[in-house]
Amino acid sequence: MKKKGSEKKHIQVADVIFGGDELAMIVGPCAVENEQQLMAIANKLKKLGIRIIRASLFKPRTSPHSFQGLGLDGIPILRQVKQETGLLIESEIMDVRKLDILCDHVDILRVGTRNMQNYDLLKEIGKIDKPVILKRGFCSTIKEFICAAEYIFAGGNDKVIFCERGIRTFETAYRFTLDLAAVDILKRETPFPVIVDPSHAAGKRELVLPLCRAAVAAGADGLMIEMHPNPEKALSDGSQSMYPHQMKSLLDEVYAIKKTCNRSAWS
Ligand code: PEP
Ligand code: MN
Repeated sequence: MKKKGSEKKHIQVADVIFGGDELAMIVGPCAVENEQQLMAIANKLKKLGIRIIRASLFKPRTSPHSFQGLGLDGIPILRQVKQETGLLIESEIMDVRKLDILCDHVDILRVGTRNMQNYDLLKEIGKIDKPVILKRGFCSTIKEFICAAEYIFAGGNDKVIFCERGIRTFETAYRFTLDLAAVDILKRETPFPVIVDPSHAAGKRELVLPLCRAAVAAGADGLMIEMHPNPEKALSDGSQSMYPHQMKSLLDEVYAIKKTCNRSAWS
């Protein structure tokens, strides 16, 4: 999957371009919890001019006793958000048996860190024509990450978006170590856009903005950020979820950094 010359793939999803001059922003809760929660978030995103909402129905949780997501029962909520706001829907696929139904309701699929090496799932995604965000396995090297993308690409689906989300290290001050060198390496070695998820790396809200700044400065084509109307009551990942009122200034900062980077003579 070597990048040839300056060839770079732009992935267009409706009016959003991944890999272009503008940052592609994906914001939303860790998990869809109910209609009221997702509609509140969707309405906030409309006001902020963000076009893609994170809307996970399936949650890969470390403990089987934790909230596992609404599953297919949440499909009517996705449909409602789309109808009422026109937002693009991004959601995680865990089980190959749910691929068809999820594809009917989402604009972008996400393969989470725990499924990066689920090769049967990747092969099936390779056969469909749907953009997919592939998150880096938290114990995977960059080479293994690229190989996982090859599984999708080899099947014919060339709409792959890499997502760096942190890797496991000895550090315990935060959840995962965000590997920002990977952003530059992936962009040099592959033609695909690269976005960053600072939320799952940080594990805590106050670290999200600094990591966003650094990710964009490192060349990220987009960001995926968790936001919840009431993080204290969130059923998952509340501690790392941004408050809606924090988003405007975060966006102002990252857009300004992106502009500066676009003007840079270095590449
Ligand atoms: C997520 O984005 O919802 C998620 C579970 O992240 P990760 O797969 O990176 O842990
Ligand atoms: Mn989460």
